[in-house]
Amino acid sequence: MTDAGDPLVRVRDLRKYYVEGDSLLDRLLGRGSRSVKAVDGVSFDVRRGETLGVVGESGCGKSTTGETLLRLREATSGRVEFDGESVLDMDGDELTRFRRRAQIVFQDPFSSLDPRMTIGEILAEPLRIHGLPEDTGDGRSKSEYRRDRAKELLERVGLSANQVDRYPHEFSGGQRQRIGIARALALEPEFIVLDEPVSALDVSVQAQVLNLLDDLQEEYGLTYLFIAHDLSVVRHICDRVAVMYLGEIVELGPTDDLFDDPRHPYTRALLESVPRAKLSEQGRRVEALSGDVPSPRDPPSGCRFRTRCPLVIPPDDVDIDQRTYREVMDLRDRVESGDLNPDAVWDAVGDPGRADKPAFKRHLREELFDTDLDGENEDVVEKALDALAEGDGDRAAETLRERFESVCETTRPVLQERDHPAACHLYDQPVEPDAGRDEAEARAD
Ligand code: ADP
Ligand code: MG
Repeated sequence: MTDAGDPLVRVRDLRKYYVEGDSLLDRLLGRGSRSVKAVDGVSFDVRRGETLGVVGESGCGKSTTGETLLRLREATSGRVEFDGESVLDMDGDELTRFRRRAQIVFQDPFSSLDPRMTIGEILAEPLRIHGLPEDTGDGRSKSEYRRDRAKELLERVGLSANQVDRYPHEFSGGQRQRIGIARALALEPEFIVLDEPVSALDVSVQAQVLNLLDDLQEEYGLTYLFIAHDLSVVRHICDRVAVMYLGEIVELGPTDDLFDDPRHPYTRALLESVPRAKLSEQGRRVEALSGDVPSPRDPPSGCRFRTRCPLVIPPDDVDIDQRTYREVMDLRDRVESGDLNPDAVWDAVGDPGRADKPAFKRHLREELFDTDLDGENEDVVEKALDALAEGDGDRAAETLRERFESVCETTRPVLQERDHPAACHLYDQPVEPDAGRDEAEARAD
């Protein structure tokens, strides 16, 4: 036995970019290819026997992380170690051995089981693929052995051995997920990636499946990477939690610390979206998560959460209310992305002749600002709106940038190596923006 707590899985600066627009047709039409930065430099350990949670909104790269570290997808770069060996360099027998030791349970129990196979066949398949058993040693044929093993697995996950000849459609969602779990157990793995294993299930069934996973972990000493988009599920099952946003880990810590003292504004926003049980917690100030996750094709500079962050940091010399600053930054984002179309504004004010500039500006202010601006801030926004009314979006953007540029957009925050780090400029950052990253890389070598 190795000490509990030392890493079974070490991931360092893992990246997975999907290339889009790379088909023959795209090339014939001269379209450039673009990469989707689904996972963009994540580093973490999964310690032996622990459950590490990975949470974040849909599209943040959680599944890609899980599948890439298992070699179900090819990594773009980075390093993954399993029990001290480099997973991304494995081939042949080594890779086969790794595939026995590390398994996955998928989110959707309906699409992840082949409808044409019986449960017995589904559970025997991993053994067959790996040429197991090598020898039954007791006179049973190999297929008898596998069938017996399938029955055993069924019972272990709370189903019954006499269901072995049934087909997936004869089972409920919860039962199918139990079958998915049994399949993952067939080769007696040490590590399982659980990719939203209960998200597709009724709430009443979720707890039963989570209890099963807990029992199995204890019985077999399993190590889990538990992916979820919902923090409430994670709280009870995970020892530590990594919070992902747009391909990066923004906070990582022991579960209780993360819930009691969430540091990254994204983590706080996720927590705010979890329904409150305790009345004492219901009054806590809500900083709701608004807007959508930006595209990983062209992620925001600096901190990727800054386009939605309620605590985005104003320049030192600008005195401005936090909510007003958020509104100014939203205006900037819309001007810079070309999302704010002056033609549409002129249409909305019913002035196709573009003469009534005050009406144009009034309309925008009403649309974009709930709070009041004053002093220099007011003057600069007024100048920017003037530029927009004159059709000069670039000048508007530049005017706003000069006064309001945030450290959050110029400098990428680093997830430092400590007990409960957050990649956010509200916390001390290394002087060299990339120092933390280099350190992590150096340690991985
Ligand atoms: P999550 O599991 O957190 O919902 P995913 O890992 O599934 O996120 O996806 C991360 C990002 O990668 C998303 O923007 C998604 O659209 C994109 N993506 C996932 N698979 C592919 C693919 N095969 N090709 C291109 N983009 C993909
Ligand atoms: Mg997913």
